[in-house]
Amino acid sequence: MSLSLQVYRRITVKIGSALLVDRSKGLRREWLSALVDDIAELVEGGADVLVVSSGAIALGRTILGIGKRSLKLEESQAAAAVGQIALAGAWSDELGRKGLRSGQILVTLGDTEERRRYLNARATISTLLKMKAVPIINENDTVATTEIRYGDNDRLAARVATMMGADLLVLLSDIDGLYSASPAIDPNARFIPMVDRITPEIDAMGGGAASELSRGGMRTKLDAGKIATMAGTSMIIASGKRLNPLAAITRGERATYFRASTKPVKGFKTWIAGNLEPAGRLTVDAGAVGALMSGKSLLPAGVKLVSGAFSRGDTVAVLTPEGREIARGLVAYDAADAVRIAGLKTSEIAGILGHEARAAMIHRDDLVLSAEHTDTVALTGS
Ligand code: GLU
Repeated sequence: MSLSLQVYRRITVKIGSALLVDRSKGLRREWLSALVDDIAELVEGGADVLVVSSGAIALGRTILGIGKRSLKLEESQAAAAVGQIALAGAWSDELGRKGLRSGQILVTLGDTEERRRYLNARATISTLLKMKAVPIINENDTVATTEIRYGDNDRLAARVATMMGADLLVLLSDIDGLYSASPAIDPNARFIPMVDRITPEIDAMGGGAASELSRGGMRTKLDAGKIATMAGTSMIIASGKRLNPLAAITRGERATYFRASTKPVKGFKTWIAGNLEPAGRLTVDAGAVGALMSGKSLLPAGVKLVSGAFSRGDTVAVLTPEGREIARGLVAYDAADAVRIAGLKTSEIAGILGHEARAAMIHRDDLVLSAEHTDTVALTGS
C-alpha cells in the first residue's frame, strides 16, 4: 500500500525525542538535515508543514552532561530550557539551509484547552503559515508543571493538527506502526496497516491509561488518533529510525494509516471533542443514550450519576450505564446544581434551583458524540 504524502495540503509532523537526540552524542544532525529535505520537498509541492518537535529535555541532558539518572521536575525544566534553545537553533539552521523560514511556538495545556487562548494560538500559527514560515512547536516544558502539562507530544500534536485544520498528522517515532499487541513482548503480535475507525478493540491495543512510563507509547498515539480522525485529520504512525522518513512513507515503507472520519466534527465542536481532560462525568440511562445518538440534547432527566468538580461551561464526558464514553459536551450547570437536578423532569427543576431552568444539561449545539458513534450516526442518516 502506498501512502503518498504529496496529496495532503496541510501536514503536521511529530518527531519523538529518541529520533532527534542521541543520549551520548547529542543532536542527530544528519538525520535532522535529511528530514528537512523531506519537509522542503512537501513545501515545494505546495503543502503547509507544521512540526511538533520533542527533544528539548533529552538534548538539554546531553548538553548539561546529565547521565541516565531520573530528573526532579525542576531539573527537567532546566534541562528543557537549555535543550529547547539548541533544538530551535538547529531547526532554524537546517530549514534556513533549504531557504525556509521557521518560527518557534511553545505552548502550555491552557493554550489549547481554554477557548480564548486556543483561538489566539490558532491565529498566530495561521499568520506564521501565511508568512511561509514553518512553525516549530513544543510544549513549554520550562513552565509547565505536572497538573498543567500535556506530558506527551502525541496528543499535543493531534490538538495542534486539528486546531489548524491539517488533513494529515504523521507521528514519527521508533515504532513503525500499530500492532495487535506489543511486539517487544508478544511474538504473535500482528501488524495493522490500516485502521478505518478506532473501535474499542483497536483502542485496547494501546494498553492502559497514559502514565509517566507509557509516555510516547501506543496509548498516547491512539488517543492522538481519536482526536485527529474525529476532526477529519488522517493519521500515520511510521518509523523515523531511517533517514528521510517522510519520503520513505511515500515510497511505501511500512506504516499504519488511520482514516479520518467520513463525518468530521467541525470548528467549535472539534475543540470540544478533542478536549484532553474532561472536568467531570455524567452517567446517563439507556433512554438518554438513544436520544443523544439521534442528535438530541442531554436532559437532566436522563442523568443518573454526576462526578467531578466542574463549573458551568466546562467540558464533561457522557458515559453509558456500562461506563463507556459516548459523548463530550459543555455542561450548562455546575457540579453542585447538576447533582441536585439529575434525574428530574424539566418542570421540576425551577422549584429546586429557585430560578427558571435551562432545559438541557448539555445542549445539542455544545455536544459531540465520540468518534466510534459519529460515523454510525452518519450511516443512519440522523
Ligand atoms: N516536550 C518534551 C521535550 O521536548 C517531549 C514530550 C514527549 O516526548 O512526548 O523534551
